[in-house]
Amino acid sequence: MKPWTLGALAVFLLGLSAGLLIDGIGTPAGAEEPPKRSPVGTVPDRDVYYPGTEPIAPDEMRIVACGTGMPSVRPKQAAACFLVELGNGDKFLFDLGSGSHERISAQKIPYDFLDKVFIGHLHVDHMGDLPSFWLGGTVMNRLTPLRVWGPSGATPEYGTKACLEHMKKMYVWDIGTRGGVIDFRGGELEINEFPFDKVNNEIFNENGVIVRSIPAVHGLDGAVSFILEWNGMKFVFGSDTIPNKWYVEHAKGADFAIHECFLPPPLLVEKQGFAPLEALTVGTQGHTAPEQFGKVMSLVKPRYAVAYHFYNDFDIAPEMLRRVRKTYDGPVSLATDYMVWNVTKDSVKARMSAVDEEIWPSPALKKKLPPDFTKAIPISDFTKSGALGFPEVVGPLYEEINKLYGTDYEPGFK
Ligand SMILES: [Zn+2]
Ligand SMILES: [Zn+2]
Repeated sequence: MKPWTLGALAVFLLGLSAGLLIDGIGTPAGAEEPPKRSPVGTVPDRDVYYPGTEPIAPDEMRIVACGTGMPSVRPKQAAACFLVELGNGDKFLFDLGSGSHERISAQKIPYDFLDKVFIGHLHVDHMGDLPSFWLGGTVMNRLTPLRVWGPSGATPEYGTKACLEHMKKMYVWDIGTRGGVIDFRGGELEINEFPFDKVNNEIFNENGVIVRSIPAVHGLDGAVSFILEWNGMKFVFGSDTIPNKWYVEHAKGADFAIHECFLPPPLLVEKQGFAPLEALTVGTQGHTAPEQFGKVMSLVKPRYAVAYHFYNDFDIAPEMLRRVRKTYDGPVSLATDYMVWNVTKDSVKARMSAVDEEIWPSPALKKKLPPDFTKAIPISDFTKSGALGFPEVVGPLYEEINKLYGTDYEPGFK
């Protein structure tokens, strides 16, 4: 064959393969035309989730990873938190680990819609942002009490109730500054502690949604996993646990099952500086290694599994998946923050979010009441004596607001 003939053949083959591989280049005779795109229209398919721009279908469950990492949070991953949004309008937060508040605020959801929090155990990487979410949310227009569910412990002082009562005491200064200044109804905390050792125990039943708890094996007595059932679908959140019989039995057949999945022991040594024995005990007896995660999921057989609780980087994910695949061959996501799943009875769609960093609080859903001045805590004459009133600066600010809103307010400090 002459050189030019070879060249022509190569060009022909290249064109053929391009036509086969690249969608939209050449349509075989008789095939349907690809959908037309308008130069002034929008992108027809949403490959990326933009929070606040998509309705939830009446039969749909949307799950957003608001924290998937470790106690030492980092820009890419906060600690444990998953948001579950249902087509009936209900929203649930499962764990509220350190750093997760920021990811929740990126969803642009009014805080009044985010009033239900379920804490699986009282490690800081699973509840560290609860104070920030509770008090920060109140300042950012939540006017309804925050409702929190969490397990008991071996004794009362190890339970959720004692923990949150102490949290209130810890923030007495913060709370003291708010009462006489803003409508502080959202600062109320509804604490629902339930027995950690009750199996498949119904702890929530409202609006067609049931949440049950099952015991978990992690740390001390007082760790649980949660099962949410709604509209014939079952969502399971593991919080932290090593493989346990309750999860395997009660998560069985879940539509969507989340379970922790720790770095394998060799990577705990190499990347996190664990001693070898420490890596083995923490990585398999305190937490769940990828092979153990896979074994659990091969027994549970969920429609879709989610692994979280590790630093999910480009060089780590292939090794995690290789190990998970030793024991599980079903659908799985290795979660990272802002991953989102749309779950219906027919499909599970996994995507990443594109997040707007310049988030402002949503307006209050209820009319704000004037602050309760009786709750104002007086400050000392000493502190007052340090205030510089700057009446020539502050006076015009009051005038500006009075003019805009027809009020007649006067500055406190003169
Ligand atoms: Zn833990
Ligand atoms: Zn944890």
